[in-house]
Amino acid sequence: MSKPKSGGSGGSQPDSSSGQKIEASKLWIHCGRCYALYVDKKVKLFFLACNHVLCEKCVKVKSGRTPSDSNIFVCCTCQKNSHGREINNDMPNYVKRFFHTEAFQLASEAIDKFQLSNHRHFDKYKERKEIEMNKLAKDIALAKSVCEKRFKDFNMMRVERKKLSQRTKLIKEEAAKQKAEMERMAQAKLNRTLESQKSSSSARDTIHGRPHVRGGSQVGSRRSSKDSGRGTQAKRPKVTSFHHLPNHSFNL
Ligand SMILES: [Zn+2]
Ligand SMILES: [Zn+2]
Repeated sequence: MSKPKSGGSGGSQPDSSSGQKIEASKLWIHCGRCYALYVDKKVKLFFLACNHVLCEKCVKVKSGRTPSDSNIFVCCTCQKNSHGREINNDMPNYVKRFFHTEAFQLASEAIDKFQLSNHRHFDKYKERKEIEMNKLAKDIALAKSVCEKRFKDFNMMRVERKKLSQRTKLIKEEAAKQKAEMERMAQAKLNRTLESQKSSSSARDTIHGRPHVRGGSQVGSRRSSKDSGRGTQAKRPKVTSFHHLPNHSFNL
């Protein structure tokens, strides 16, 4: 098999900028099934005799060899058994020209047709990807806005919570103050009541105690002691009752 060394008409020595141009002009060379790109150099691409391009992952190799001892491939695009060649710089020129970067110079209808159909195929793929990207970008923008809104809400709630906790603290302090004030007032009232009870009781003692001091009688003394024994019960209205004198039994 003849293997011309040169890269054909596209094989002039490129400088870096024209090199990039050439790389860009090869972007359309892709696997017809999974869209792996030739310029990525991640997988080998094969150009089949049925004019389809497939990568090594997508092409099937049929058992058996061609008379020229090369692989027989099964094209998954058109299901034909085909000869095929790996796309690289070592392809014979008659095959390599299908991938010429300036195919218009060759004026070959077959090559124009091949490149055009590959361009279209790849353009459709790019359109689909662009739609997917736009949809993703929209989804991302929506998710971003939702996140921003939630973050804003969260911050507002945090501020609100801080305000509420400050308010709760103030209310608690106010309630404690009021409670203390109420306790103080209740204590003052109790003190006043006790004070007034004490003063009224001492005043009564003074009134009841006078006859005892003056008369010195037994009855007075007993009553006085009785009264003092009753203590605070002496607040009742005064009722005249029998004097219980010492019991002398006798027959009437
Ligand atoms: Zn593939
Ligand atoms: Zn095919």
